[in-house]
Amino acid sequence: RSAAADALLAAEEEHLAHNYHPLEVVVSHGEGAVLTDVDGETYLDFLAAYSATNFGHGHPRLLEAARTQLAKVTLTSRAFHHDQLAPFGTELATLVGKDMVLPMNTGAEAVESGIKVARKWGYRVKGVPAGRAEIIVAAGNFHGRTTTIVSFSDDPEARDDYGPFTPGFVTVPYGDLDALRAAITPNTVAVLLEPIQGEAGVRIPPPGYLAGVREVTREQRVLFIADEIQAGLGRTGRTLACEHEGVVPDVYLLGKALGGGIVPVSAVVADADVLGVLEPGTHGSTFGGNPLACAVGREVVAMLATGELQERATRLGERMRQRLEAMVGHGVVGVRVRGLWAGVDIDPALGGGRDVCEALARRHVLAKDTHGSTIRLAPPLVISEDQLDAGLDALADALTEL
Ligand code: PLP
Repeated sequence: RSAAADALLAAEEEHLAHNYHPLEVVVSHGEGAVLTDVDGETYLDFLAAYSATNFGHGHPRLLEAARTQLAKVTLTSRAFHHDQLAPFGTELATLVGKDMVLPMNTGAEAVESGIKVARKWGYRVKGVPAGRAEIIVAAGNFHGRTTTIVSFSDDPEARDDYGPFTPGFVTVPYGDLDALRAAITPNTVAVLLEPIQGEAGVRIPPPGYLAGVREVTREQRVLFIADEIQAGLGRTGRTLACEHEGVVPDVYLLGKALGGGIVPVSAVVADADVLGVLEPGTHGSTFGGNPLACAVGREVVAMLATGELQERATRLGERMRQRLEAMVGHGVVGVRVRGLWAGVDIDPALGGGRDVCEALARRHVLAKDTHGSTIRLAPPLVISEDQLDAGLDALADALTEL
């Protein structure tokens, strides 16, 4: 590593809060599935910014949409209308089959907004007594980092020393329909779930679970909120991960890839009987729904509307599944794959997920461990077959080094 790279690492250590522990690669360029560091070394990106760069780095269509809008207007606030907002809302709502969009910026903001909408719906529409609304969440969840969201996390790293916490959440085991059914009370306004738990290690619920959640929540008049922020928008081979079970929740939370890896764009998407509870002045965001975000988001929606990237994720994902399954017994103890998204459990006897990611980085492939000995693979959906094979060859080789 060059002195210039070392200087950047040292300055980061000194002047940036230490809330991350990144791999020691200092990126300066990106194109497609390839990242280049400050010394000119190239790496295959097998994380895609936690699925925020599903379309790869510097996608020409997304850059063009951003450039065109940059030259026009980038921010008006919602105090005025602008000409990108209505098309963005209409096109996104149409893509996912709902009536209305509430635009926000980060994923955590979409989750917070979904919680507020569900509570208001509970009081105004369902008739829950004031201040008593309950939301059911799943063990092992990851929905973001705000105070309210970490209030219902069960990860001590995410929670410790951040209390006092927001009340009103009930946790049940993920994938256990009976436990969910038993937890519903007359004050339950929503069930908030990831259709696949990303940060927990790409945990896929048992077949029939999401359909069961849909049935129970409909029967009990409870909103089903699907956090598709990481799972959605092409990653699993479908526009929405819920589609794998033919399930239509009441509320989708979207983020990450919605901003094309260019700007933070998130959204709550639901029908008018739910999102209609918001009235002027009751919720908002200075940057939410800004013209630049909407222009980029519209191009993302247009690219997803053809279904090409979803097909590609399915096809490449099948290739990745075969390769990963062949590694079981050779340093890997379990794999879970949905589309171009995998959780790979490394034999703990070999070392932790971090060790594997460092060994991978030495082979010029960038991935990230999630919990303990699990690593997550989520290359950009535009990755070529050769690049995918090269990354998986590197993983097989890295496992022999540990
Ligand atoms: N929800 C899920 C399922 C996520 O995976 C994440 C981020 O990893 C979030 C919410 C939070 O998104 P953000 O980091 O943009 O706030």
